[in-house]
Amino acid sequence: MEYQEYLELVDKINYHMDLYYNQDAPEISDFDYDQLMLQLKKVEGEHPEWVKEDSPTRRIGGTTKREAGVEVTHNVPMLSIQDVFSKEEVEDWVKQVKALHKDAAFSVEEKIDGLSMTLRYQDGNLTLAETRGDGRVGEDVTLNALVIPDVKKKIAIQGYLELRGEVYMSHEDFERFNESQEKLGKKTAANPRNLAAGTLRQLDSGVVKERGLRMYVFNVQQASGNELEGMEHIQALTYLSNMGIYVVPHKQCREIGEIFDEIDSIGDRRGELPYDIDGAVVKLDQVAYRQDFPAGSKYSAGHIAYKYPPEEKEVEIEEIEVAVGRTGKMTFRARFKEPVRLCGTNVQRATLHNIDFIQNMGISPGCKAICRKQGEIIPAIIRVTKQSEASYEAPRNCPICGHTLMREEETCDIYCNNPSCPAQVKRTIAYFAGKGAMDIKNFGTVYVEQLVDLGYLKDMADIYTLKNHREELIEQGIMGKEKNTDKILQAIEDSKQNDAYMLLTGLAIRNVGKVSAKEIMKHFRDIWELSQASIDTLTNLPDVGEITASCIYNYFREAQNLEMLKKLNDSGVNLKALSQGDNTGALEGLTFVVTGTLPTLGRKEVGELIENNGGKNTGSVSKKTNYLVAGEAAGSKLAKAVELGIPVITEEELLRMIENTN
Ligand SMILES: [Zn+2]
Repeated sequence: MEYQEYLELVDKINYHMDLYYNQDAPEISDFDYDQLMLQLKKVEGEHPEWVKEDSPTRRIGGTTKREAGVEVTHNVPMLSIQDVFSKEEVEDWVKQVKALHKDAAFSVEEKIDGLSMTLRYQDGNLTLAETRGDGRVGEDVTLNALVIPDVKKKIAIQGYLELRGEVYMSHEDFERFNESQEKLGKKTAANPRNLAAGTLRQLDSGVVKERGLRMYVFNVQQASGNELEGMEHIQALTYLSNMGIYVVPHKQCREIGEIFDEIDSIGDRRGELPYDIDGAVVKLDQVAYRQDFPAGSKYSAGHIAYKYPPEEKEVEIEEIEVAVGRTGKMTFRARFKEPVRLCGTNVQRATLHNIDFIQNMGISPGCKAICRKQGEIIPAIIRVTKQSEASYEAPRNCPICGHTLMREEETCDIYCNNPSCPAQVKRTIAYFAGKGAMDIKNFGTVYVEQLVDLGYLKDMADIYTLKNHREELIEQGIMGKEKNTDKILQAIEDSKQNDAYMLLTGLAIRNVGKVSAKEIMKHFRDIWELSQASIDTLTNLPDVGEITASCIYNYFREAQNLEMLKKLNDSGVNLKALSQGDNTGALEGLTFVVTGTLPTLGRKEVGELIENNGGKNTGSVSKKTNYLVAGEAAGSKLAKAVELGIPVITEEELLRMIENTN
C-alpha cells in the first residue's frame, strides 16, 4: 500500500467512525467496519513510520459533544475490548494467561450490542450515570438513567460502588418505535443499537421513558467500604443478581474446550435472543490477574471479545422481482424457493442493488447463491455457487405501465420516466404542484393522493381540469368545504401564469431541478423552443452536462410527453419564459451543512429542499458555511460550527426561512 492510499483509508475510517459514534447513522455494517480497521492495523504494523498521533487505531471512538450535554471525567476509564475474529486467537490468549496463572478461570459472556454506561452509587443511592464518550470523558445521563426500569435507584450496599453495563433496546421496543415512525411518516431507525444510543443521549427523559431502554450490568468497576470489595468477578455478578440487579448472562469456564463450547452455544442462540449481540466476551474471573494482561491503552486488560462471522446460507433463487420505486427507479429483489433462517428471522428475499450487480454476479432464476445477513443489514447475495442455464436479461419495459425503460449509465440504475406511470403518478403530480415547482398554494400531497385514488387525476395536466368537477369535489368534501375548494381552484388558475422555468421544474426531467431549470430558461423563449434544442446546444449551456442534456433531449422525444405539454398549453398554462427577475429561491446564495437526526426530514429530503430553494448543501463546516442545521445527537460538526461562530438552526427554523420568503 502506498502512503497516499494509507491516508485515504484513514479518512474513510474517520468518516465511518463519525457516522457511527457521533451521528448514530452508520452506512456500513459492523463487519465491514471491522475489516477496514483490521486492514489499517496491518498497514500500520508494516509501516510504523506512517502512524500519526490521532490515527483511528489510537482512539476509542466518539467525541462526547452533545447539545447541552454535561461532561464527566470517569473515575475508572471506560475502555473497549480488543476484538478477535478466530478461535485460534482466543486459544493463544488463553494459553498466555494459563502460562502465568495456572488456576485462571474465565467468564464467557454475551457481548450485548448497545452502548456502555457506568453507574455510581454512594451508600446505596444512585448519584451519577455516565456514557463512555471517548473512554476518559463521557456524558452525564443521570436523568435518563432514572427512567430506565432496569437501573436501580437504590440498592442495599453501603460505601462506594461503581457498576458498568450495557444499555440496549429490545427487538420488541425497536420494532414498536419503527412502526410508529412509519405511521407518522417519519424516519425509521437503522438498528436497535443506534436507536438506543440516540435515545440515551436524548435531552428529554420523557422520550427515553416512552421508547424503553434496558440494561445489563457486566462489571464492578470499583467498590470500597462494602462486601463487593475484593470479590472475584463472577462472585460479584452473583451477589448483584441476588439483589435483583440484571447482570449479563455469563458462564464460568476453566479449559479452552469449555470456552469454545460456550462461544458456540451463544452463537447458536443469538438468533433467538430478544436483543442483538455482536460477539462473546471472554474475561478473567480473577480480577487481580487482569493487570498482567494489558492490551494497550485503549483496551481493558484481561478481556477479549470473539466476534462471530456474519451468518450465511445457501439459497436457491426462484425469481427476480422487479418493482418500481416512487422515483421511477426499478428495484430488484431475489425471491428464494424456500425461506432460510438467518440471525433469528426467516428470510425469503434479498436485495440485488442494480442490474450490473445482477449480471456481473451471474444471478438468474434457478441459480444457487450465498445469502448473508448480519444484524441490522438487509439480507444480500454475496456470491453465486451454481449458475443456472439462462442468464438474466434486464427488463425493457416498466412492469407497471409498460413504458420503455431508460438506463442511467453513471449509476447503473434503470428508470421508468413515463410521467403518467401509475407507480409514480402521485409523486410526480405532488412534485409538479409543490413549492419547488408550480407552487400551487394549499394544494398538498394529501389532496393529490386522494384525487389520484378517486380517478380525478391521472397526470399533472389533469390538475387544470379539476375546476370542471367543482360541485362534486365540494359535495364529497375532498378538499374541504366550498371556501377551501374555491381557494385551491383559484390557486390552480393562478399557477397558469407562472414563469416557464417553474413548469420545466415541474416536469421532473431527471437532473433538472429548480436551479438548473431557471438557468436553462434564460436561453429559450419558451418550452417549445427548448423541446427543439439539439444535444449540442443543450450541452453548451452553463451548468448542463452531457447526462442532463441527454435527459432533456430524450424527454422531448417521447410522444407522451409532448402530448402532455400540449394538454397543459391547451389548458392555458404559460409556456413562455417571462422576464428573469431576481432569484426567488429563499435560500439563494446561502450555504448549509446538516448534522444529526432531524425530527421529520431525512438527509436526502433536506438536501433537496435546500437545493430546490436555491441554497447550497455541503458536507463539512467551514468559514463559508452560513448555517448549520442541527438535529438530535449532532456531533463534531456542531462543535466546529460553534467554534467558528456559525449560526446553528433547527429544522423548524430552516422551514420557516423558506416559508417567509416564498
Ligand atoms: Zn412505469
